[in-house]
Amino acid sequence: METPNAEIVSEKARIRRIVEEARAAGWTVGLVPTMGYFHEGHLDLMRLARAECDLVVVTLFVNPTQFGEGEDLAAYPRDLERDSRMASSVGVDYIFHPGAREMYQEGFATHVEVEGLSRIMCGASREGHFRGVTTVVAKLFNIVPAQRAYFGQKDAQQLVIIRKMAADLDFAIEIVAVATRREDDGLAMSSRNTYLAPDERAQAVALNQALERAQELVDGGERGADRVAAAMEEVINAYPLVNIEYIAICDNILLRPLEELSGGVLVALAARVGKARLIDNRVLEIE
Ligand code: AMP
Repeated sequence: METPNAEIVSEKARIRRIVEEARAAGWTVGLVPTMGYFHEGHLDLMRLARAECDLVVVTLFVNPTQFGEGEDLAAYPRDLERDSRMASSVGVDYIFHPGAREMYQEGFATHVEVEGLSRIMCGASREGHFRGVTTVVAKLFNIVPAQRAYFGQKDAQQLVIIRKMAADLDFAIEIVAVATRREDDGLAMSSRNTYLAPDERAQAVALNQALERAQELVDGGERGADRVAAAMEEVINAYPLVNIEYIAICDNILLRPLEELSGGVLVALAARVGKARLIDNRVLEIE
């Protein structure tokens, strides 16, 4: 069956009114924040929101404040027409697509930062990135007062930080995590995969393979974080185009590094492959 087109809204006041009216009528509203250039991973978030909510609002905003100097803000891939078709195909009701001025009025001066967590792992090399993310997500939670917000497990640190922000600042919104969607060879889908040249794309499987190796070791009884990290490094070093930025083995709530693996363990890594900076992770449940 043809689904109607998702309506594109660019004004904050209008999308807020639409959501408030839906809630007044007793509807459940789901929010899916994105930067666009959709792939199946994004669509999974939208599909789950569609299944669980009466009204689905996707936000599409390439947020300048989460890009550092020298990062890929200008080059970030954009295609609103294609995105709109894809979102419509999974039954999204509205796409909130504001301009930068609509989001950040002249003289904008207020920021939200989850201290500590925002400076480690990806935050160590991307100064200001998570402050930009939490600030824009806090704004989106206010502009689109939904009951549920959907985020990908792919961005594990972002998910932990947003959960912490929502808890610390008492946002009345449930944060829902959605599993990472992968290509057939295991590479996590990402809008940034479009930056990869063919030889880089082939080697980008290294990240998932390192995570598979970690899983294998843990399944075999290994509990030493250093040994797991060393084995992951060895896997990646077999791929000369893949340069590790970090491998982190930590708890999945406050991202505290672990020596011995137990409980819910996040194994996360970042690597540079050509022009792209790729991330991936796996959560291991250990008895
Ligand atoms: P982005 O547009 O890249 O900022 O991502 C928007 C949302 O989609 C975030 O919550 C991401 O974690 C999520 N996402 C990105 N890639 C994937 C993927 N491969 N699988 C599942 N979710 C994803």
